[in-house]
Amino acid sequence: MTERPSQDIDGKADGEQLAADFLPEGQANGTGARPSREEAEAAVQTLLRWAGDDPAREGLLDTPARVARAWEEFFSGYQTDPRALLERTFSETEGYDEMVLLRHVRFESHCEHHLAPIIGCAHVAYLPNHRVVGISKLARVVDAYARRLQIQEKMTVQIANTINEVLEPNGVAVVIEAAHQCMTTRGVHKPGVTMVTSCMLGQFRSSTATRREFLALVGNPQGGAQVHA
Ligand SMILES: [Zn+2]
Repeated sequence: MTERPSQDIDGKADGEQLAADFLPEGQANGTGARPSREEAEAAVQTLLRWAGDDPAREGLLDTPARVARAWEEFFSGYQTDPRALLERTFSETEGYDEMVLLRHVRFESHCEHHLAPIIGCAHVAYLPNHRVVGISKLARVVDAYARRLQIQEKMTVQIANTINEVLEPNGVAVVIEAAHQCMTTRGVHKPGVTMVTSCMLGQFRSSTATRREFLALVGNPQGGAQVHA
């Protein structure tokens, strides 16, 4: 197995950037007020016409409404504050300070360049300092960032930085392996290709032994992860 994944991302995205990414429901974003559902559905009709089909034919009549509902699900991460997910912690841990690792967290995201699906899995670890969080919360943080328009590199750093800033652990490690449908179904058409990104903070960055232990527990992402796109 490779000691370090193919792409190591420098985990130094600033917290202000993270805060700016979070858009509460109904609030204006950078381009003005959020459009209405009717406007969103009209935009889908335009794309259907542009693709060469007739939005008025029976099979497509309900498609704009379905697409709008699907988008609510795909992009529900904008309505979630990932930091708030980590605020409830447990301090009665009998001094547990070894690695906590959540492996194979499957996620679905969309690339911000083509709106094509990114299907992958994340491995998330941290070294508790004094606070431990419910493990389902780590998976929810992954989803909160996955259900937005993304690039994999940014998502990897966002997950690591959020855990690092809220839990203040001794270290955070995030490895993501994903298949990008903008690469498998269009463009270079290379099915079977996955991308691996990682972000190591604190002891995972400074200690080779800690990083090695994490990567051994995760296994070789190329072989161990269940990635289907
Ligand atoms: Zn893309």
